[in-house]
Amino acid sequence: MNKVVIIGAGLGGLECGYILAKSGMEVTVLEQDAVIGGCLQSFPRGKALLDTGFHYVGGLREGEALYPLFRYFNLLNLPWQALDEDCFDEVIIGDKSYAFAVGHERFAETLAEQFPHQREALHTYTRFLKDVGEHIYEAFLPREATMFYSQSLFARSAYDFLNATISDPLLRKVLSGTSLKMELKSDSLPLYVFSQINNSFIQSAWRLRGGGQQIADHLAADIRKMGGTVRTLASVEAIIERDGRAVGVRLQDGGIMEADAVIADVHPQEAVRMMAQCQSVRNIYKRRINTLEDTVGMFTANIVLKDGVQMYENRNIYVHSDDADLWSIDTSHTQSVMVSFYPDQPVVDLLTPMRWSEVAQWADKKAGGRGDEYVAFKNERVEQCLQMVEKRLPYLKDAIERVYTSTPLTYKRYTRTSDGSAYGIRKDWRSPLTTVLTPKTPIPNVLLTGQNLNLHGLLGVSMTSVMTAAELIGMENIVKDINI
Ligand SMILES: Cc1cc2nc3c(=O)[nH]c(=O)nc-3n(C[C@H](O)[C@H](O)[C@H](O)COP(=O)(O)OP(=O)(O)OC[C@H]3O[C@@H](n4cnc5c(N)ncnc54)[C@H](O)[C@@H]3O)c2cc1C
Repeated sequence: MNKVVIIGAGLGGLECGYILAKSGMEVTVLEQDAVIGGCLQSFPRGKALLDTGFHYVGGLREGEALYPLFRYFNLLNLPWQALDEDCFDEVIIGDKSYAFAVGHERFAETLAEQFPHQREALHTYTRFLKDVGEHIYEAFLPREATMFYSQSLFARSAYDFLNATISDPLLRKVLSGTSLKMELKSDSLPLYVFSQINNSFIQSAWRLRGGGQQIADHLAADIRKMGGTVRTLASVEAIIERDGRAVGVRLQDGGIMEADAVIADVHPQEAVRMMAQCQSVRNIYKRRINTLEDTVGMFTANIVLKDGVQMYENRNIYVHSDDADLWSIDTSHTQSVMVSFYPDQPVVDLLTPMRWSEVAQWADKKAGGRGDEYVAFKNERVEQCLQMVEKRLPYLKDAIERVYTSTPLTYKRYTRTSDGSAYGIRKDWRSPLTTVLTPKTPIPNVLLTGQNLNLHGLLGVSMTSVMTAAELIGMENIVKDINI
């Protein structure tokens, strides 16, 4: 088995390409869009370079979660900028502000200044997260050894854990307050997702000067150096099967690419659509995948500032209304906004959850042709976000030169995720065996990868890339190279 075709040049596809090209395979990554990167794309608008999805990562220092993976993927030399260690994330609820500090001890002690009666509980909370984080690479061990640990955390409720550990409801809200980076849903979010993601940011938090696109571009450049190919405007229509195995893919332009193995870094429902004609993919599998629900989408306002305005803060700010129920994702009115800054751009980003149903009425119209109502809808959402952050950033409104917006329609257009979901399939602790997918599909040489499987975000997708590539070349070979 030598020739691998990878569908999708998002982080997952590129990382799989990197691993397999490094192992000597002939890799071709096919991307439907004109630009690689998926949710990592940066795009120029006027004087600014704006980011699509990615804003910050955690755990990039030696000994931390993402470090060995990014060292392996040759990404540590990018211009990473550490966020403020005393407050990498600031949570604002009503009139009060709370700082998230780097380091487990410091994190607990900083919040204990405002919640002295919860000091012990805070240490229990951070000790738990740290412990989960220390076991992260057990996911790479033979399955039997990890089964109990990982499945037990995928099968436990994050919401119940928080309630059981922290008795003060306001502190529970504060600890949930940075979690626009996952979908907080009380009846589904697994403890594994909540713990691994939060833990990695408590370890250390980083922005990337110059935008997320660099991650994709570096991986692609290395794949090419190793003899692989990365093609854009190459939309895959179908996976071709013969005698129970994939033999190639058919592109939208009618072209055929032969392959000994196919990896799909696309939404699994998109992958199932590509396997529609494959005999070995039974209806029961298609139904199972097609009935999985997606996490909520995101609305982003990229605000370009007037010339000369300095507004940079070396932290993220999460603003919530007093009455926000952070575990219910009510998007009927804006109740939570994430503010992020660019170290090297005159830009402030505001993000807030948005459901597909809010924009579905414009789904069949092309971007730019969705009419005045859509424009008014987006402007209204920008206004609500600005009102939410007004007290904390009183000068922002007057400093605006131009606002660019994206909705779940935009994400669908650029990543083809079925309903513009931000973080892909919703993992559910009540049914981990159906909602947490493995890379395997009914066709032995067709594999899945990307954020829809294990865990979303740069950490989760990087972990999953290793698991997917391991199905072809063996985990021992990759782990030896990663040197965990
Ligand atoms: C708003 C937002 C903010 C985020 N912020 C952060 C953050 O701060 N930190 C963090 O760690 N993570 C963040 N994430 C999550 C992170 O960006 C994603 O988990 C990760 O980038 C997903 O990578 P992927 O490869 O799984 O999928 P994608 O990035 O979706 O890549 C899939 C690729 O497949 C291509 N494709 C689809 N169909 C086809 C086809 N038929 N043929 C060829 N190509 C196809 C798409 O065009 C796309 O390029 C954020 C995500 C969003 C949406």
